[in-house]
Amino acid sequence: MRKVLYPGTFDPVTNGHIDIIKRARELFDGVVVTVAINPGKTPLFTVEERVHMLKESLKDFDNVVVDSFDGLVVDHAHEVGAVGILRGLRAVSDFEYEFQMALMNRKLAGDIATVFLMPHEKYTYLNSSIIRNLSSLNSDVSEFVPSIVMEALKKKFS
Ligand code: ADP
Repeated sequence: MRKVLYPGTFDPVTNGHIDIIKRARELFDGVVVTVAINPGKTPLFTVEERVHMLKESLKDFDNVVVDSFDGLVVDHAHEVGAVGILRGLRAVSDFEYEFQMALMNRKLAGDIATVFLMPHEKYTYLNSSIIRNLSSLNSDVSEFVPSIVMEALKKKFS
């Protein structure tokens, strides 16, 4: 059973994240999507809300589970029995940060590989922060996020 861990803030999950998860499902036996609790960030949605939105959006995928963690990603990868860490690469701008993280994680845990997947081109300009900004300005984001996220955003900004 080769599992991969997909860590992120997911504030909120977008169709870009879902695209990456769908691709990973084809390559691995299981995908563990994990909401990182990052004290340095002030998210719009609580951890519980983010986990709930992910679970609802991914409920039809039998080999995908969702959880959250507080601590080092490599430790959580070991805890869930993952062989790798999954990250999405959209553009060159993602590279520098992801490169540093991947090399640091390799230093911390040589048995955990970082795997990068690219989403469909239509999601390359999409990120959670744009979604939050557009929603706060009452813009329709329905083509970019799962329906449960759209409802949650409407409630937050109503
Ligand atoms: P983080 O704060 O860890 O970067 P995010 O939720 O922003 O958390 O992103 C989690 C992962 O998903 C990252 O690897 C990021 O590059 C990737 N990602 C974010 N948005 C997209 C998208 N639209 N398409 C593909 N990958 C994405």
